[in-house]
Amino acid sequence: MNQQKIIVALDGHSSCGKSTYAKLIAAELGYSYIDTGSMYRAVTLASMEALLFEKTDAPPMEEIEVLLNHIELNLKHNPEKQRTEIWLNGRMVEDVIRTMEVSGHVSYIAAISAVRRKMVEYQRMLGEEKGVVMDGRDIGTVVFPGAELKIFLTASLEVRTERRYKELIEKGMKAEFEEVKSNLAKRDHIDSSRADSPLKQADDAILLDNSEMTLEQQMVWFSEVYQQITSGTDG
Ligand code: C5P
Repeated sequence: MNQQKIIVALDGHSSCGKSTYAKLIAAELGYSYIDTGSMYRAVTLASMEALLFEKTDAPPMEEIEVLLNHIELNLKHNPEKQRTEIWLNGRMVEDVIRTMEVSGHVSYIAAISAVRRKMVEYQRMLGEEKGVVMDGRDIGTVVFPGAELKIFLTASLEVRTERRYKELIEKGMKAEFEEVKSNLAKRDHIDSSRADSPLKQADDAILLDNSEMTLEQQMVWFSEVYQQITSGTDG
């Protein structure tokens, strides 16, 4: 008996392990993994490359809206690296969008409604057929408010800083612990307080604080929750 495909919405604070967790869940269920943060990061990279951040941390929205019309994003699976990669105007940018410079500007870009409209449209298209695990900040509240399973993931700021710092260092990127910490706190603040689609737990989302949990424990937790949710939706 085939289990009906669902949408798993995974929202939460910056660097609490959403993408690692979402990838594992997607592999377990045979679903696609969609990293919506990479889309906002790619738009940020395009804005930086267009030198919009050269003179100010808050370039005029009109300039970003004009740029948006010349941006084409695509998510493609790379079978060799076994990962989904984001392409910006025909260029693979999956790695360059992870720098501290991009992290420093992304929340400003993500607060712009015109940017969000375009990203949400693309995300809804990608999740149309269900069978996706989508991670972000507004998936359960705005992108797919009808998602069958919504998880809101969090962890303490200290734990999140340690994880992110380690990840950057392991990738050979430059990083200062305190800078990583203040970037996370700043992004959380901007993401939670913006007017359009602020980061918040959907009323029907299940909260998971993974500060003290291993990935293995999180997967056990997920299996239990998934069983409960899908036991009534067998096809
Ligand atoms: O998930 P990640 O940390 O890569 O996301 C980068 C930034 O993109 C977030 O800090 C947030 O500003 C923005 N974002 C968003 N909505 C999403 C996903 C990411 O506003 N659905």
